[in-house]
Amino acid sequence: METQSEERIEIGRETEPGAGLSGTKSSAIVEGINIVRTFKMGEVEVRALRGVTVSIRRGEFVAIMGPSGSGKTTLLNQLGILDTPTSGKVIVDSIDTSTLSDREKGKFRLYNLGYVFQDYALLPELTASENVYISLMMQGKSKAEYESSAAEILTAVGLGDRLSQLPSKMSGGQQQRVSIARALAHSPRVLFADEPCANLDSQTSKEVLDLFKKFNTELGQTIVMVTHEDWHAAYTDRVIRLKDGMLEQ
Ligand code: ADP
Ligand code: MG
Repeated sequence: METQSEERIEIGRETEPGAGLSGTKSSAIVEGINIVRTFKMGEVEVRALRGVTVSIRRGEFVAIMGPSGSGKTTLLNQLGILDTPTSGKVIVDSIDTSTLSDREKGKFRLYNLGYVFQDYALLPELTASENVYISLMMQGKSKAEYESSAAEILTAVGLGDRLSQLPSKMSGGQQQRVSIARALAHSPRVLFADEPCANLDSQTSKEVLDLFKKFNTELGQTIVMVTHEDWHAAYTDRVIRLKDGMLEQ
């Protein structure tokens, strides 16, 4: 079982950049099947997700929306394999992630998935370039390879002139663009973003959403983004609406 799972993860490792984008656009790349996530707080049970079934197609840009506390972050964390559902399962690119050990999940995330968070989550003592290439380094790429990949993707997000700048010397919008570059550096099959514009003004939010849209339309990057701003929905192909831990309607 262990060996079998390892092999399947290795498939992700051997593929060429963007290989996760192969196949027809209509095929599912992420499937959440009847996901329940309950948090136990002493005697109290919080039912954050009460049986959610969703399917994200390859190349789609999907928004997850709903009121505060409706379960958006919890759902994103299940689909992004950052958390384990109480019941139900998540299938990513035909791999049933419930069969993976924690170690295998870590490796699967490193090679196949990318994340953007509202607080950027950059390492403050590392430069923009170092923040971006750290995951490529962990994948065992050569120094020349990871440095040039970082420069290339930072240029693509408009920060080609700030490779050696520290996050503390950058605006919020610039830091978020570094985190987008980091999330995309290894050509993930799916990019997950949790309220990526929550700390940004509307002009800077627009720039970040334009970037997502560009990577989605030009590279076919699959994106799943949590947001509570209605105007963000216009950038996406589809909205998944949550209410009280369930799909709305
Ligand atoms: P949203 O992102 O839509 O605001 P969340 O997914 O963060 O909502 O939370 C959904 C519900 O689950 C809320 O009631 C929240 O308090 C609860 N919840 C989320 N994470 C935890 C946790 N780690 N422990 C306990 N309760 C949690
Ligand atoms: Mg949230």
